[in-house]
Amino acid sequence: MRTLLSKMRFVRGLRFRFTIVNAIFLSLLLTGIGVFVRQRLETVLQEQLQDVLDEEWAATKAYLIIHRREAEWRYDPEDAEESLIVKQLQRVYLCADSNGKVMEVSPVFAGLGALSPERIRAALAANQPYLEERRSPEGEPYMIRGGLFVDDDNQRYFVAIGKPVAERQRILDQFSKNYFTLLPLLILTGSLIGWFVASRALMPVRDLAQAAERISGTNLSLRIPPRPSGDEIENLTQTFNSMVARLESSFEMTRRFSIDVSHELRTPLTAVRGQLEVALLAANTAEQYREAIIDALEDVERLGQTIRAMLLLSQAESGQLALQKAPLDLTPELRDIVDQFQIPAEEARVALSAEAGEPCWVEADRIQIGRLISNLLSNALKYTRAGGTVTARLRNEGDEVVFEVEDTGVGIPAEALPHIFDRFYRVPGHREKQGLGLGLSFVSWIVKAHGGQIDVESAPDKGTKFVARLPAVEPPKPVAAETAEESRV
Ligand code: ADP
Repeated sequence: MRTLLSKMRFVRGLRFRFTIVNAIFLSLLLTGIGVFVRQRLETVLQEQLQDVLDEEWAATKAYLIIHRREAEWRYDPEDAEESLIVKQLQRVYLCADSNGKVMEVSPVFAGLGALSPERIRAALAANQPYLEERRSPEGEPYMIRGGLFVDDDNQRYFVAIGKPVAERQRILDQFSKNYFTLLPLLILTGSLIGWFVASRALMPVRDLAQAAERISGTNLSLRIPPRPSGDEIENLTQTFNSMVARLESSFEMTRRFSIDVSHELRTPLTAVRGQLEVALLAANTAEQYREAIIDALEDVERLGQTIRAMLLLSQAESGQLALQKAPLDLTPELRDIVDQFQIPAEEARVALSAEAGEPCWVEADRIQIGRLISNLLSNALKYTRAGGTVTARLRNEGDEVVFEVEDTGVGIPAEALPHIFDRFYRVPGHREKQGLGLGLSFVSWIVKAHGGQIDVESAPDKGTKFVARLPAVEPPKPVAAETAEESRV
């Protein structure tokens, strides 16, 4: 079973598939090349043969004289070269009159089969060189070249000569034999090279898979060592590593969240339990019972708030809180919220003001932006003593909208600044104020979810300034008067 599985995996493997495709491609390509070269060779040999036959035909015309149906070869018998040429021409030779009646034929030509009178007449009528391939009784191929011959009396004759072409066939056969014998060897070599190349190319993928196997939920801190090769594998390694990094931070977030939750819930629960136990053991009057129950209810209320805030934050951080973004002018939003905070500000005897004039357009979720402003304002009021001031400012700066909340409150010590956006973090000296330590985490998430960033500057006993920067957008085009009119109807 195991061997079958590993065999199947091998066959489905990229290396095997690449080699097979490569082998098929090589076979088709090399066979195609072989067939093409053979055809070209055949054409070239044929052309060469025709040239030789044309030359021999010209020589025949020079040495042969026909007079009153008598054919005579005229040459110098003393000249060895001429004698040899004429002897060769006479070997495969036929002469016929214009009716197609054969007057003279060499035995070799006769052996190739008679040319019928109709054929000869047709060849003469065609008025172009006559070419034909014929075979001797032994199967040896000959090429015949014939044509019109006119004597001194203007009589028309048909003369043909021939040439054995076995050599041409032999060359072609030799080529086919050699090439197609070599072909399997070429394909095999090409496939082996393909296998080798595929193995080398896929080696990093195998390493990657092995490294990935080692990484599990418990050791997410492992990374695949990067290979600076600049290729797709490097890209894949980087993508994989950053995916593991994201997984690791998300695992870490979940782990911290569970720790935070259990810790944050245990404290008020213990308090409630303590209050109820004390009431049970020590309370005597209905008034004492009432007080214990009211205290317990207050703690339960805080517990509820914590749970709601935690759920909202966890939804936000895990991407389940969908933002309904639309172009939004922050100026009227800020003014409204500052107005709502005037009563608590007066109660705390803190001067709250807004510096916002020009429209400041951002692409934003109105509810979440409201939460962002309210959280920063309520913190500023909470941590500013009576007589202090809180100022909210809004302005356009380049392609950003800048929102600031500045107070003259207790400030945050430098060592606490890096932690104030962490969940459940509260500056140690500020514990007398009620709070969950979740507001700024949520503020930070809202700013990031809108593509912005938030910074804080603070000095103890001088004050704190939060600066949120959000990408500005073009104000939406005003609806044309007509359309507005229509939509009102
Ligand atoms: P909390 O509910 O405790 O206010 P936050 O997450 O909103 O939680 O704030 C985290 C901590 O940062 C606060 O507990 C407080 O110590 C500090 N902090 C936030 N805003 C201010 C401010 N304007 N001035 C001084 N300290 C602040």
